[in-house]
Amino acid sequence: MKIGVSSCLLGNNCRYDGAGSKDNFVVEELSKYFELIAYCPEEMVFGTPRESIRLVEIDGEIRVISNKEQNDVTDKLQKISHTLASKVFDDNLCGFVFKAKSPSCGIERVKLYTHNSNMNEKKAVGLFAQAIKDKEPFLPIEEDGRLNDPWLKENFLMQIFVYKDLKKFLENDPTFKALVEFHTSYKYLVYAKGQESYKKLGSIVANHDKKSLEDVLVEYKVAFLSALGEKGNISKTYNVLLHIFGYFKKLINKDEKEHILTACQEYKDGIIPLIAVVKLLNLYVKRFDDSYLKTQKFLNPYPKELALRSDIKAYK
Ligand code: SF4
Repeated sequence: MKIGVSSCLLGNNCRYDGAGSKDNFVVEELSKYFELIAYCPEEMVFGTPRESIRLVEIDGEIRVISNKEQNDVTDKLQKISHTLASKVFDDNLCGFVFKAKSPSCGIERVKLYTHNSNMNEKKAVGLFAQAIKDKEPFLPIEEDGRLNDPWLKENFLMQIFVYKDLKKFLENDPTFKALVEFHTSYKYLVYAKGQESYKKLGSIVANHDKKSLEDVLVEYKVAFLSALGEKGNISKTYNVLLHIFGYFKKLINKDEKEHILTACQEYKDGIIPLIAVVKLLNLYVKRFDDSYLKTQKFLNPYPKELALRSDIKAYK
């Protein structure tokens, strides 16, 4: 599975000053699970080392200006950004980790300067990041620093696996029947983001307006990725755990019920991590050989070695 990375995060010396910005999580952790493809728009167009640049608002337009010579390099950076965004699309990526704050790569809160002044507000988006957002609006993206937050990290990596799964599903010439199966398997993962989203997706799948399969798939893709792009929270996840418990609560004894409910509550109270409860529920899914629950992505959304659900702070 391939994900794109701002090249400097891999430690490549492509920054304006000839240095890199190696991110240990990207280099040491993400590289175990993904093929990392490096992109550096600025190096491609200006070489390294080079003059640093900034985003400046001039006559209501965002321009890219070099700091020393005050050259307007917007068009050059714009052009390479669009070329690389097309390459990102062709490279079949499932996600992208950008370098934060960069006038090319920052996905939000990049400094935007007032013309001929040092005053700035953190409110812009880097040109390359914007070109990718325009080309692939639902590609999972994050910035390097934010991935130190276990909650953002879990949400981002889960999105990558979901994105890949949907891509694979769509590439295999799905039928309406296959769509129903795909949709059903995501029931509780979508619930963990919001039950309303699942209802909306359900109505697309039900297709009361008798649209063509092609149109339904396009609509489903947008709604599905939007739903999974939402950040989950403890309360919604707790409700999903209770839903799953409901499948076998009549089949187990009082002590077993109490054991599961206590575990769910301890997860809700931030005492034990989600993985402890999911492992427990998976034992019962196996014991009762529940074919419906066995298909639920919520119970196994990504390789367990990532250990994302082992961190109490991965849920808020
Ligand atoms: S932030 Fe982007 S443009 Fe700047 S050095 Fe890193 S990869 Fe290159």
